[in-house]
Order: sequence, then C-alpha cells, then structure tokens
Amino acid sequence: MTIRCSLGTAKVLGLKRVKVDALPTTAYLMVGEHCRFNCAFCAQARNSGARADLLSRISWPKFEGQEILEGMAFPEAQSVLQRVCFQVVQDQVALEETKEWVKRVRDNSRLPICVSAGPRTIEEVEELLDLGVDHISIALDGATPEIYAQTKDGSWNERFTLLLDAAEKFPGHMATHLIVGLGESEEEMVNCLQTLYDRGITVALFAFTPVKGTRMEGIKPPEMPHYRRIQVAHDLIRQGLARADQFRFREGKVADFYLNIDELQNTRGGEPFQTSGCKGCNRPYYNETPGEELFNYPRLLTPNEVEVAWGYIKVEAKLMRTEEGV
Ligand code: SF4
Repeated sequence: MTIRCSLGTAKVLGLKRVKVDALPTTAYLMVGEHCRFNCAFCAQARNSGARADLLSRISWPKFEGQEILEGMAFPEAQSVLQRVCFQVVQDQVALEETKEWVKRVRDNSRLPICVSAGPRTIEEVEELLDLGVDHISIALDGATPEIYAQTKDGSWNERFTLLLDAAEKFPGHMATHLIVGLGESEEEMVNCLQTLYDRGITVALFAFTPVKGTRMEGIKPPEMPHYRRIQVAHDLIRQGLARADQFRFREGKVADFYLNIDELQNTRGGEPFQTSGCKGCNRPYYNETPGEELFNYPRLLTPNEVEVAWGYIKVEAKLMRTEEGV
C-alpha cells in the first residue's frame, strides 16, 4: 500500500535528500487523491488542474507504506517528530484507508495521531477516536457560511454543527482549520475564533495561498498586516487574555485589542506568529514562499522578526488613532 507524505516529512523520514529551511515536527501523510468536493483554493479539488502531488503549495511524493513506517523508527526522525497527521482528501475510500493507516502507525509508533478533514458523522469521529486518534480536525476553512458557499461545496452549518457536537461529546479532541484571506472581514474571523475556543476547539490558522490550476489561482494572499492582526487576536482569545467582544472594530478591522500593544509584545513575544493548531504541528512552508516573510513561523522567531511582526500592529493602530483624532 502506497501513501504520499509532504516533501519535508520525506526528508525527516530519510526518504528524500532535499534542502529545507525548517523541518516539520509533525509527519504529514496524505490519504486519497482527487477529492469529490470542489474547493476553489485546493489543488486536490474535483475540477482542479493543479498537479496531483500538490496540497496547498507543497509537493507530496508517494512511497511504500513500509518505508514510511520504517522511517518513523529512525532515531533522527524520532528526535524531530512530535505527532503524525493524516491529511485526508475526501475521495470515497479515503476514510476507510485512513483507519487502516491509523492502526499501522499506532502499532509502530508512540506519536499522537491527528486526522484532518475526514469524518462526516459523529459516529465516524467516534470510530477514529476509538482507534487511538488524539485530535480530529473537521476543516471549516471559511469563517462564515457565506464565505464557505463562495469557495466550497456542501454546507458550513452542517460542518459547524458536527464540529460543535463532536467537541461537546469528545472534549479536547476536536480541531479545525480556518483560512484567512477568502474575503471575510477581521471581525467575522475573530468572532468565529471566539465561538470555537469557547467550545474548546483547537484552531489552526492558514493564510490563503493561490495555487496554479485552482479556481482561485488569480487571487492574492492576505496582506501581512491583516494576517498579523488575526494572529494577535487569535493568540489573545486562545490564551484567554481577551475576548472578541472586548476588541473594538472599525469597518470590519480590529481597531483596538483591548490590551496595551507594547506590553503584549513584551509578554507574548513571537508566539502569536508561530504556526497554530495541534501541539507540535508546525507546517513549514505550507503557505509560504521560501525567502519571503513567513505568515506562520514554524520555529521560534528571532528578536528582529518579533519586532517586524509587532511593527505591523503598531503602525496600523497609530494610523487608526490618527484617523479617529485620538
Ligand atoms: S493542526 Fe496540524 S496536526 Fe492538527 S489536524 Fe491540522 S494539520 Fe494536522
């Protein structure tokens, strides 16, 4: 049985000799190919003309399953990896295949296992958890039903309800993915984040990434100041330092974070800007182009990177104060 893994994962498992700027601390494995859904941004979508070995902007070479399992046992891999995540492309057989893979990985490794974008019912969630899966991500991707309808098949409300029900039944085991830059306002994204954290759901933030061959290939990624504001809001909500209803918004943008920005920079440092999601998931270069400023840092930030990231927040806050005559 063959399976695809991200190029960075292949390097960690000793299966590819490639130069990478940051190693993944999660082994990302892709089950299934060519989804039956048609997300406008996804390389694996039904009508996508993108390369079959792409998911987001990274490539996923195929290997024999045994090679992957043996790779995970290497001491080098064990010293790097903190988790295994199955990215399930929703073809008809992918979930059944995922369950087989979960058993094989569980029998060969002690790493916690995640399954992303798999289940359609609460029973399927339960089946995966019973097999020993630690976190299950039901990807919302869009922050609102309207954004979802513009970019994805199916119903946001159905997914959202499944996610909330599963979070209530299996506390601490549910996660979701949200993509910043699909057309939602900052206020909509922040409110969605608050609702999810109130239910104990782990959120992984992504920056929209145009991929050639997809319906949204011509759309630009989010502006960095916009993404940084969402990251700060996300961090404050996740840490319980502030709530969405304490922020102030102007024309859909965060105008005030409720807390003093200089103090936040001192106390939170670079953490808001590191990759979010399940513990140990750093997704290097999932959204980024090497050599350009990173949306999600897969590692600790340097002092200069911390300064630059908070700089966006400060400049915008100053601008808003000036416009408001404060
Ligand atoms: S946050 Fe990371 S480890 Fe968790 S489901 Fe998403 S991609 Fe997988």
